[in-house]
Amino acid sequence: QARILGRDRLMVFTPKMHEKARGAMETLMDLRQAMEKDELILFYQPIIHVDSGKVTGVEALIRWKHPHRGMVSPAEFIPIAEETGLILSMGKWILKKACTDIKAFNALYPNNPLTLSVNLSSKEFANTTLFEQIRQTLTETGFPPERLKLEITESVVMGNAEAAVITLSKLKEINVRISIDDFGTGYSSLSYLHRFPADSLKIDRSFIRRMHLGGENMEIVRTIVTLGKALHMEITAEGVETAEELAMVKELDCPCVQGFYFARPMPLEELKTSRFFHPLLKG
Ligand code: C2E
Ligand code: MG
Ligand code: MG
Ligand code: MG
Repeated sequence: QARILGRDRLMVFTPKMHEKARGAMETLMDLRQAMEKDELILFYQPIIHVDSGKVTGVEALIRWKHPHRGMVSPAEFIPIAEETGLILSMGKWILKKACTDIKAFNALYPNNPLTLSVNLSSKEFANTTLFEQIRQTLTETGFPPERLKLEITESVVMGNAEAAVITLSKLKEINVRISIDDFGTGYSSLSYLHRFPADSLKIDRSFIRRMHLGGENMEIVRTIVTLGKALHMEITAEGVETAEELAMVKELDCPCVQGFYFARPMPLEELKTSRFFHPLLKG
């Protein structure tokens, strides 16, 4: 145990804290090389239109196939990538890879072209060259801007509202679409809705998970759906895991769903052969 005496406080490093700090350092060092070593992989999770049962689009979700640790969750490495600025080059790679993948996918199924949702972190959003970078990636890959949906959380916009409005407006001018992710979990959700040119809302999983408890939980989701519709936004319920949750979401007329009940995030190859695109294959 090491003791560090600060000006007016005593900090104690327990072995556990030490381990955690060392873990983060190792993760960072490994992460720096992960991109070059092709260890970062994009998975895609279908988003389903409830009435037709058809897949309308996919969300790209990053995975890290670590040589010793197996699959590392983005919840663990995205924050480290953000803190260190690594997210900038990583985000660039993610967008380019996802546009390339889904453009190729859509060429296979021209009758049902998918939209592509890509998450943007707040650090990326604070980058003044973000707009140019996105435009360049769209040009390079030939991905149609109107099929790209950038997912941002309320906190992303909150951090730098002025710059965010400018970037979002420019994206809108070139027809890129904006989704508010994890809707309902941030602060002042309502005031953002009319200030920011968003096209769709994704209702956070925490609300979906609580619906079965009854009482006000269902009414909260109903209100979000009503609000979104009144503002002509697309609405997706996140994290639908059970038939019961799907039934409730249907009852509330929420147009789209995403969740393990229909499909988990999967590699592109698996998406190609999934039952959604091969209705004759059961599974
Ligand atoms: P998110 O954007 O809200 O993504 C949805 C998360 O919910 C994903 O977790 C997905 O696998 C998970 N999920 C989907 N359906 C269900 C369900 O039915 N039940 C449960 N329990 N979970 C479900 P994942 O892939 O671990 O990603 C976590 C978060 O990490 C994402 O939340 C997003 O904020 C961030 N992230 C993931 N990929 C990227 C990326 O490429 N770039 C950036 N900047 N952030 C990313
Ligand atoms: Mg998302
Ligand atoms: Mg979400
Ligand atoms: Mg999230």
